[in-house]
Amino acid sequence: ATLANISQELPTPKQDEIKVRNFIGGQWYEPSSNNFFDNFNPSTGKVLCQIPDSGAADVDLAVKAAKDAFPAWSSLTPHQRAAHIYKLADLVEKNLSTMATFESLDQGKTLTMATNIDISRTAINFRFFADLVIGDLTSVSVTGAYPKAYPGPDGKPAFGQALSYVNRTPVGVAGLISPWNLPLYLLTWKIAPCIATGNTCVCKPSEFTSVTAMMLTKLIKQAGIPDGVVNMVFGLGATAGNALVTHPDVPLVSFTGGTATGKAIASATAPMFKHTSLELGGKNPALIFADSNLDECIPSIARSSFLNQGEICLCNSRIYVQKPIFDEFVSRFKEFVITKVTPGDPFSPASYYGPLVSKPHFEKVQSYVQLAREEGCNVEFCVDRALNTNVLDVSENGALALEGLEGGYFMSPTVITNVSQKSRLVQEEIFGPVVCILPFETEEEGIQLANDIQYGLAATVWSVDQSRLRRVASQIQAGNLWCNCWMVRHLEMPFGGFKASGLGTEGGRYSIDFFTKKQAIYLG
Ligand code: NAD
Repeated sequence: ATLANISQELPTPKQDEIKVRNFIGGQWYEPSSNNFFDNFNPSTGKVLCQIPDSGAADVDLAVKAAKDAFPAWSSLTPHQRAAHIYKLADLVEKNLSTMATFESLDQGKTLTMATNIDISRTAINFRFFADLVIGDLTSVSVTGAYPKAYPGPDGKPAFGQALSYVNRTPVGVAGLISPWNLPLYLLTWKIAPCIATGNTCVCKPSEFTSVTAMMLTKLIKQAGIPDGVVNMVFGLGATAGNALVTHPDVPLVSFTGGTATGKAIASATAPMFKHTSLELGGKNPALIFADSNLDECIPSIARSSFLNQGEICLCNSRIYVQKPIFDEFVSRFKEFVITKVTPGDPFSPASYYGPLVSKPHFEKVQSYVQLAREEGCNVEFCVDRALNTNVLDVSENGALALEGLEGGYFMSPTVITNVSQKSRLVQEEIFGPVVCILPFETEEEGIQLANDIQYGLAATVWSVDQSRLRRVASQIQAGNLWCNCWMVRHLEMPFGGFKASGLGTEGGRYSIDFFTKKQAIYLG
C-alpha cells in the first residue's frame, strides 16, 4: 500500500471526483490492489466517487494498527477517552451541513432526513456513549460473601468471606460492519460505544455509501483521537468484509445488515468463538384495530412506510387492518400518500423521499412489483401526475422518470392489496417504498398474522384501548414495539431483533456489555 498524499480538507459537492481512501494508523492509503470501483449518485445514475477495492492485506494492516493502538487507548481513563469523543462530536456538528449534503448525494435520502436525522444523530451517538462510560465504567460493584461456606478438609469453614467485584475491561480490536441505509448513523452507533469503552476498531462501511465514513476519518484526525484507534477499510463485503470478520486478531464483530449476510458471518465467527452481535433484516407489521384514531394513525403509517424510501430496517411493510375499517383505511391511506408523500429530488424540501440507493436494489424492488402483477394483486402507484408535473413517466413496475433526473433510481409509493399472507411479497424483505395491506378479523388473528414470518425486528400497533395495546404488544414476537407511535427512540433502551432479525442487543448499557468482558474477582 502506498501512502496517499491527500488533503486534510473535507470534499466539497463541486469536486468532480471523490476518491475514497482507507484510513489506517492515522494515514490515508490506496488499497494494496491499486484497484478502485465506481459508486454512483442514485439521483442521476452518474459516478459520484471511487471506492478502494480492499482485500485481506489492507485489513491485516488495519488490524495491526488497531492492535498497536489498543494498550495506550485502553489504559486511558473513561474521562480521558470521553474528552476526545466529545471533540469529535463537536466537529461532526460543525461540519453537519457538508456531511449531510454528501450523505444525501451518496445514499439518495433527502437532505432534510440527512440533516435532521443521520448526521445530527451521529453527533448524539458520540456524546451519548461518552456520557455513559463516565457514569458507568468507573463504578465497581461489590457483592457480599457467600452465605454458607463449605468446610475445608480440616473441618474449618473456608472461602466463606471475600470481597467480590466485577472487573470490566475492553476486549481488543473490534470489526464493525455497517449497511447503506443509515450510513454514518449506524456506523457511529457502533464506533461510539466501542472506543468509549477502550477498544480500538477496524470499520468496513457499505460499499454503496462510503463517503461520509471517509469524511469522518478527517474529523477523527482533527479531534486528536490517537492514530490506530479507529481505522477504516473500504471495499466489498465478500473480500474486505470477510477478511475482517475472519481475522484471528479481531475477537469482536458487530454487524448490521441483511439476514443472509448475518448467517454467513455467524457461521464464520462461531468456530472462532468471537463475540458477535448481529442486527439483521425485518419485515415489520403494523396492526391497526377498528377503534384506532385514523387521523393520527394514517400520517404515522405513511411515515413508517415511506420514510427514507422505505429503506429503514424499522419501516413497516405489512399493514394489517381490522375488517370493519379495512376499506376506509385503504382509501384514506392512498389519498394521504398521493397528496403528501412525494418522491423527488432529495435536495428539494418538497420531496418526502429520494431515489433508491443503487441500481441493483432499484431492480430488486421493481421485481417484487412485477411479482405482485403476476400474482394478480391490486397494485396502486400513488403518484398524481397533475400534482407532480416533473413526473415524465411511471413504468409498469412503478419506476419513475423525473424531469432533470432521468437516470435516477426513483420509485413510486406503491400500495399492494388483495395479496396472500403466504406470498413472497408479504414474507420477504423488499426494503423499498412498497407496502402490502391485508385484512384481519379478531385480535388473535391479527397477532397470529403479525408473527407468521421468519423476522422479528419491530412492529407498530394502533388502538385507543390501552389494555389491548399492552396485551397485544407483549404477544408480538419483535424486539421493538411502538404503540400509537413509530420510531420514537430512546438510546438507553435495548435494541435488537428476535428470530431471523438478529442476535444480541445494542443500546445504552447493552452496547457497553457487548464491548467489554466481565471478570468476577473475589478477594479473600
Ligand atoms: P448487506 O448484508 O448486503 O451488507 C451489509 C454490510 O456487510 C456491508 O458493509 C457489506 O459490504 C458487508 N458484507 C457483505 N457480505 C459480507 C461478508 N461475507 N462478510 C462480511 N461483511 C460482508 O446489507 P445491506 O444491503 O447493506 O443493508 C440492508 C440490510 O440491512 C436490510 O436487510 C436491513 O433490514 C438491514 N438493516 C438492519 C438493521 C438493524 O438494526 N437490524 C439496521 C439497518 C439495516
